[in-house]
Amino acid sequence: MIGTIYRCEICGEESDNPQKWIAIHCNDAQLTVFKWTKEAAEAPHARHYCGEAHAQIYISRWMESVCGA
Ligand SMILES: [Zn+2]
Repeated sequence: MIGTIYRCEICGEESDNPQKWIAIHCNDAQLTVFKWTKEAAEAPHARHYCGEAHAQIYISRWMESVCGA
């Protein structure tokens, strides 16, 4: 069985079996952080990060773009 390969949006790290990664679902109005689960990671438009530090970078960018709009 070939697993899905996930890629961190910030650093480009790839894994087919992420542990302690973070999934984020967001739109213009709301951002939701998920502990890594198959369901959260495979949801449409889910974003993937290799850990809290890189999830935080995206969250900061998202807040800046929303608050600055
Ligand atoms: Zn990363």
